[in-house]
Amino acid sequence: MAFLTLEQVNKFYGELAAVRDVDLSVARGEFVSLLGPSGCGKTTTLQMIAGLVEPTSGRIMLDGRDITHEKPNRRGLGIVFQSYALFPHMTVAQNVAFGLEMRKVPRAERDRRIGEMLALVHLSAFAERYPRQLSGGQRQRVAIARALVIEPPVLLLDEPLSNLDAKLREEMQFELRRIQRSVGTTTIMVTHDQAEALSISDRVVVMEAGRMTQIDAPYRLYEKPATAFIASFVGRMNRLEGVWRRNGSASAIEVAGTVLASEAADIPAGSVVTATIRPEKLRLHKAGEGRLDGHVTSRFFLGGHWLFNIETPVGVIVVSMPNDGEEPAREGEHVGIGWTPASLRIEASGGEATT
Ligand code: ATP
Repeated sequence: MAFLTLEQVNKFYGELAAVRDVDLSVARGEFVSLLGPSGCGKTTTLQMIAGLVEPTSGRIMLDGRDITHEKPNRRGLGIVFQSYALFPHMTVAQNVAFGLEMRKVPRAERDRRIGEMLALVHLSAFAERYPRQLSGGQRQRVAIARALVIEPPVLLLDEPLSNLDAKLREEMQFELRRIQRSVGTTTIMVTHDQAEALSISDRVVVMEAGRMTQIDAPYRLYEKPATAFIASFVGRMNRLEGVWRRNGSASAIEVAGTVLASEAADIPAGSVVTATIRPEKLRLHKAGEGRLDGHVTSRFFLGGHWLFNIETPVGVIVVSMPNDGEEPAREGEHVGIGWTPASLRIEASGGEATT
């Protein structure tokens, strides 16, 4: 059942549509990420939910209540920004206590809730420290504890991990998910990092130029991207432009004179098509034993897998191979690339080929 809904929400700044015709329905306890490139309207959407920006039109409902024009403090949502914004002259415990003091929560209950919150974010031993005595990850956990201690109906996170270095950021992604799971607070997070959105969220909302173009579970977004933009923005993707060929029951895409077998698709022969395939759906073989030959121009070892850039007659193809403990093809080596025709996704790009 929907707990938070945005209905036909728009936000205009003069002529500029920062957010267009947005419909979103979030269930209680869900973790939803807003993902998209800079300027696509993620932060504006989050700020409208927070009450910091007023929609030009549309309606925002929280637990059956219309909050579209309600003041931010009446909504009582928890907010964590990219910059931690902790009070520097207050200890960790005092920072977390702040929201409870504002709400005049009695002393004993306040202390109990601060204790519980600090235990939850694994900072019980740091209660008397000042923010300057903490690492970036610890500060961000204090910010999360401070937002959650008031038991908000919704937690709003705006790029909460983007100030952290790569390793810490990955650890905090797990932490954030663990904390959210254990308190069960409905959470909306803004991020431009697709890996972060995929790993933490129950559902991801992709935004492009103010619109929400796909709302889906992470694996569905990855396997069935709704637009070409999403296909290339979420994970790596090989893209080939070619002409659709049919010969009896056999179908293929022809790219620069090379014919690549594909599954049948309901597209008129001779149409211009785009074929997409994920690097991990491709396999390396000996030259002549795959569907397409090429040579390795560069390779990257990423621990769990290898990435290869392979120069072929149809352009550079990226192949990802799991690390099985053996050293695979080297730079300069001639290789074959294989795939199952079903994993090549074909879409009409519009227009008809002249040849
Ligand atoms: P980023 O990842 O860079 O923060 P975003 O997806 O969060 O981007 P928004 O901050 O929501 O994007 O901005 C969406 C669009 O609205 C942008 O084109 C931005 O320039 C514009 N915009 C945002 N706030 C205002 C404002 N107060 N006045 C005028 N234009 C604004």
